[in-house]
Amino acid sequence: MSRPAKPPSCPLCHTVLGVNEPVYSTVTTETYKVRKWVGGMNIIETGETGTRRLRWYACEACARKEHPDYFPTAESLKLPRDKLSANPEDWDAYWKYKRALEGYREHRRCVRCNRPIREKGDSLSTRMRMGPACRSSGCTNARAYVRRAELARLERTPKEVRCLCCQKRFVPIRSDARFCSNACRQKQYRENSRNG
Ligand SMILES: [Zn+2]
Ligand SMILES: [Zn+2]
Ligand SMILES: [Zn+2]
Repeated sequence: MSRPAKPPSCPLCHTVLGVNEPVYSTVTTETYKVRKWVGGMNIIETGETGTRRLRWYACEACARKEHPDYFPTAESLKLPRDKLSANPEDWDAYWKYKRALEGYREHRRCVRCNRPIREKGDSLSTRMRMGPACRSSGCTNARAYVRRAELARLERTPKEVRCLCCQKRFVPIRSDARFCSNACRQKQYRENSRNG
């Protein structure tokens, strides 16, 4: 609990992020060896490889590396624009230009550190998948700290029990206490001895 939180850093290159430095939704592809369960405790590698897509909120340098086309420049826009101006009625050229033009957009900020989160296109799907925080190590840790603190608080909070005599709820001092007061305990005792 007393361990200081790590400074927020890019999950891909681990460069520490500045206070309001934006993060960019980035997808990387990872190749893995396909394994197969062949009964009992035996898992073998089939020799095949598969790929999986991993999503991150990375720093600008990492996003540029993975998605250079999401950072349109005058140079990268020149060819599609020339094609469109040569033939303004060409729908294909129009869409290609539009797509080239569309870079990262800032729809929202991290709910924890207020860092801008930049995403390509519609942010809703990424937001559903990634949650409202920026996923930098700082915010991931913060989330874990909050959760752990909450669990510890719940554990410390004494549990209420119901008095066997007056049915009032009370917080017992001893874990095996069944009556809220001496009066209740004696009352119940008298009642029991009268009945028994
Ligand atoms: Zn990075
Ligand atoms: Zn954050
Ligand atoms: Zn009582």
